[in-house]
Amino acid sequence: MAVLGRGVVPAETPILRADDLGALRGDGIFETMHLRAGRPWLLDQHLARMSRSAARLELALPPRAALVELVDQTAAAWDPAEEGGLRLVCTRGPETGGPVTVFATAFAIAPAIRRARREGVAVVTASLGYPVAAREAAPWLLGGAKTVSYAVNMASLRWAAGQGAEEVLWLSSEGYALEAPTATLVWLARKILWTVPPEQTGILAGTTARWLLDHAPALGYRAGERLVRPAELADADGVWLVSSVRGAAEVRSLDGVARKPAADTAALLDLLGYGR
Ligand code: PLP
Repeated sequence: MAVLGRGVVPAETPILRADDLGALRGDGIFETMHLRAGRPWLLDQHLARMSRSAARLELALPPRAALVELVDQTAAAWDPAEEGGLRLVCTRGPETGGPVTVFATAFAIAPAIRRARREGVAVVTASLGYPVAAREAAPWLLGGAKTVSYAVNMASLRWAAGQGAEEVLWLSSEGYALEAPTATLVWLARKILWTVPPEQTGILAGTTARWLLDHAPALGYRAGERLVRPAELADADGVWLVSSVRGAAEVRSLDGVARKPAADTAALLDLLGYGR
């Protein structure tokens, strides 16, 4: 772990005050990056998104150079031979006022994530209860911001586990697929690699999905963004949940209905640079 202004400290070092608004209110933002060969992948894209999140929360994010230094310190303390994740966090700081709290941690990739790359995941759909356009029209819903308020995301995953599934695909009230609690939806249909449009829906603009779609021609595909319903996903040539830590996990069943294995999962993971 590294703390802004202090550098690398032992991971068990206490660094938050009891009245830190990140802990009290979930009032803060974060980014999670993939650590490969000891370096964070897509660092620029993650820092750009963090700065958009900060603007949405009116949070005084430290200058980019200070964040880069913090990330560099954290990455340098990680064994480059081990694949990992790097989380960069900025909370609003003490309730009584004061500077934002900023730290970064490095962590090992969980065995369940590696298994998901190899074997795929069972996914159940769950409604978020609001229409596709709700978040764009209501800035206080913080659409598109990566905030530390992930209690709903984690509750969704526990609910999925109760149904015997590993993942959730959130739906709008009209029944359109949005995203997963920690991943972006990508699907292949008629040689086009699709994802859900982030601006129109208020989902998080995934850095991994963006990179993958920008490189779709390397797989022989075109790329596009549109809304989709789960029934249409059932007929797709491949459906994946993609994110910085997992790379890509193929959706092997949706609401209990098995899907045929996609031909492209290994190629996707190779292109993205993730091992199994
Ligand atoms: N959507 C949500 C809600 C997420 O939390 C994440 C990542 O954690 C993603 C999508 C995928 O984003 P990225 O590819 O930038 O990791």
